Amino acid sequence: NKKIILKNYVKGFPKESDMILETSTIKLKVPEDCNDAVLVKNLYLSCDPYMRGRMTKTEGSYVDSFTPGSAITGLGVARILDSSNPNFKKGDLIWGFTGWEEYTLIKSTQGLFKIQHTDVPLSYYTGLLGMPGHTAYVGFYEICSPKKSETVFISAASGAVGQLVGQFAKLFGCYVVGSAGSKEKVDLLKNKFGFDEAFNYKEEPDLNAALKRYFPNGIDIYFENVGGKMLDAVLLNMRLHGRIAVCGMISQYNLEEPEGVHNLFCVITKRIRMEGFSVTDHYHLYPKFVEMVLPLIKEGKITYVEDIAEGLESAPSALIGLFSGRNVGKQAVVIDHE
Ligand code: NDP
Repeated sequence: NKKIILKNYVKGFPKESDMILETSTIKLKVPEDCNDAVLVKNLYLSCDPYMRGRMTKTEGSYVDSFTPGSAITGLGVARILDSSNPNFKKGDLIWGFTGWEEYTLIKSTQGLFKIQHTDVPLSYYTGLLGMPGHTAYVGFYEICSPKKSETVFISAASGAVGQLVGQFAKLFGCYVVGSAGSKEKVDLLKNKFGFDEAFNYKEEPDLNAALKRYFPNGIDIYFENVGGKMLDAVLLNMRLHGRIAVCGMISQYNLEEPEGVHNLFCVITKRIRMEGFSVTDHYHLYPKFVEMVLPLIKEGKITYVEDIAEGLESAPSALIGLFSGRNVGKQAVVIDHE
C-alpha cells in the first residue's frame, strides 16, 4: 500500500519534502472487530487549503493536526472493497474522509457520502459536488443573504469554491467581479464563468483604487477567501449594510504572525455584517444542494474547471501548489480511475 506521510510538523511555507512516499502492507479486508468500517480503494484525492492548518501542531483548532509518520488524511472519492456496514456495500462509490494512500480502512462510516449520481465526472465529488461546491452554496445562499442586482466581489475567484460562488451569484442576478492571480485565471473568470469583470490582484499596486474602478458605488457582498491586504481594501469599499462571508484567509495560512487588517472600524461605520462559517456545520443541506446543482450542470448553466494531477506521487506538489496559486481550478489528484 503506497502512501504519503507527513514527515514533521511544518513552519512557514510547506515544501514537497515535508511529505514522503512510503510503502507498507495492508489486508484488503475489514477486521472482525470493526462493525462500522469500510475498506476502500482510493480513486481521487482532494487538495484543500485547510490541510495547511493540519500540518501544524495546533490546539483548539477546528480541525485536528495530522500525525507525523502516518498517512495524510483528507477528502477523497473511493470505491468500497469490503464493508461491515450493510448500508455500504462492496462496489459502492463514496466521498468523504480517507487517506492519502492506495487503500484505506475507514473505521467509521459516519460522515461518508454515498455517491448516487455517476453520470457526471467522479472527480466532481472532490470539488463541484463535494465539500468546496457545498461551501460555495452555503456561503452564498445562507451567509451572504443576496438580493437581485446587488454587487458581489469574490477573491481567489477562479478556485474550487470561488468559481462556483461567482456562477451562483450571476444566476441570481447580481453584478459579479472576481480577483485572481494570473491572466489565464482572469480570462477564465470573464470568458468561461461569466463574471462581469475580473482583475489580476498581483498587477494592482493599489487594491483600493482597483476596487473603486469596478465598484464605483461600493460592494454589497464580499465572499472572502484570502484575507490580509485584500480584506483591508474591501472594507473601505463596502456599502452600508454590506455583508462579508468569511470563508477563508489563505494569504495568512503560512504566516507566523497574521498580517494586519487596519480598516476593521468600517464594520461599525458601514453596519457591515461579517460572518465566518464552516461548511462542516451545514451538511444537512447537502441533498438540497445536489438537487439544485445537478440539473444546472446537465443544462450547461454551471461549468467547472479542475486541475487534476496524476498519481499519488504528485499529491505533495499539488497540495503546496495551492499556496502559490499554481492550480487552475479545483486541485485534485487521480490515483486510479475505477
Ligand atoms: P483554491 O482552489 O481557490 O486554491 C487556492 C487559491 O488561493 C490559489 O489558487 C491562489 O489563487 C490563491 N492564493 C494562494 N495564496 C494566496 C495569497 N497569499 N494571497 C491571495 N491569494 C492566494 O482553494 P479553495 O477554493 O479550495 O479555497 C478557497 C478558500 O476557501 C480558502 O481560503 C479555503 O481555506 C476556504 N475554504 C473554507 C471553507 C469553510 O468551510 N469555511 C471550506 C472550503 C474552503 P490566485 O492565483 O488567484 O492567487
